[in-house]
Amino acid sequence: MNEHDSERIGGLLMADGMTPTESVEDARIVVLNTCAIRENADNRLYGNLGHLKPLKARNPDLRIVVAGCLAQKDQGEIQRRAPWVDVVIGTHALPNLLDLLRLAEEEGPVMDVREYTEIFPSALPAARTDAFRAWVSIAVGCDNACTFCIVPFVRGAQRSRPIGDILAEIQGLVRAGVVEVTLLGQNVNTYGRDLTVPGSSRRPRFAQLLREVNEVDGLRRIRFTSPHPHDFTPDVIDAMASSEAVCEHIHFPLQSGSDRVLKAMQRSYRRERYLDWLTRIREAIPGIAVSTDIIVGFPGETAEDFADTLEVVERARFDGAYTFQYSPRPGTRAASMDEQLPKEVVQERFERLVALQSAITAAANRAQVGRTFEVLVEGGGKRRGSTQARTRTNRIVHLRQELPPGTFVEARITDAGVHHLIGETVSTPATVAV
Ligand code: SAM
Ligand code: SF4
Repeated sequence: MNEHDSERIGGLLMADGMTPTESVEDARIVVLNTCAIRENADNRLYGNLGHLKPLKARNPDLRIVVAGCLAQKDQGEIQRRAPWVDVVIGTHALPNLLDLLRLAEEEGPVMDVREYTEIFPSALPAARTDAFRAWVSIAVGCDNACTFCIVPFVRGAQRSRPIGDILAEIQGLVRAGVVEVTLLGQNVNTYGRDLTVPGSSRRPRFAQLLREVNEVDGLRRIRFTSPHPHDFTPDVIDAMASSEAVCEHIHFPLQSGSDRVLKAMQRSYRRERYLDWLTRIREAIPGIAVSTDIIVGFPGETAEDFADTLEVVERARFDGAYTFQYSPRPGTRAASMDEQLPKEVVQERFERLVALQSAITAAANRAQVGRTFEVLVEGGGKRRGSTQARTRTNRIVHLRQELPPGTFVEARITDAGVHHLIGETVSTPATVAV
């Protein structure tokens, strides 16, 4: 979501005549687009602002902007702690960026941290890193109240975007050469709950959206993030299985394998129900890859609770996982719970979880050796003369050959590590970009 917003910030500035620069020393405007999900993001913001202070002292024409979730969270605190910041712009105010910069020019430091999104950031111009793939926001905000999470505080209640607007954006993207989109929402399953279909009392559903996006001519790959296991419904599995362009990958956040911890997190599914969904998804979509999010060290997590998480990880055989150490966020219920765990305990559990998941991921990757996949070329690899590409199952494949980004090739997998596969092309590249 933050990357998506950064592309809009870049797009607005470029539409206004700015060009990107490699070095902060040459910049006329510096934007820090911030994340608030864990505490280290907070610390980094104030550290980065400290580094910008002498630059601003040398060049009073420099404009410094703080955008995103920390801007929404810290509001006036930012300019109190760093009075050299010109603009503080919250998550709902992005479309006003250029006006705020002009106002700051005339009147000095300004702030806009309104509480409600009026214009979807997706409707703004974008400066994309890649011409062949794009993020598309389908809903902003979140109506859940997971006790560890700051998102509802900084992104507000869920607001869905009408299907017509989403389709129009995707059709425009495909005309411009995009072949892959990732649909973005904090809980894609509740997409449409806050909308009505014109002329009917029905509400649009995520499964219907998937099917309609699948009909867009020329779009080859559809991804989405994230579905919430509580609101997951069988119609989404059916839509995934029957929509050719929807990739065989699902990000399905577990958070914890202990029912007691899930309850304290206010995640209203339980481990067996979660595992049951996984079985149903895998039966309906053979070969689908599953990734997840797991938090270690939630307040009061006991050794038994953690053992439950390891057991679910063993049983689920995730293809990949984002693992996080619990970080208390101000204003959330979990932050004021008793029994915050000592850092050493959390670190030790975290390392055990990472070791277990890495072994499972490595085994899942080794099972791909000898198979052939359609891969989409993303760009230059780390080594000269190599290319990074991606399978529909979201695995990274390194090819020892230079190929243009945005092309599809068939690749045979020759080797595998924890983080990527190695492959060789077995077809001539087909440029799909228009
Ligand atoms: N809406 C998504 C969901 O419900 O699965 C999650 C979005 S959140 C931006 C991404 C991930 O960050 C979460 O799934 C969770 O694992 C992690 N996360 C959120 N708050 C956290 C916290 N306070 N400490 C550690 N990890 C956290
Ligand atoms: Fe945060 Fe996701 Fe829970 Fe919403 S559903 S509160 S974004 S973790």
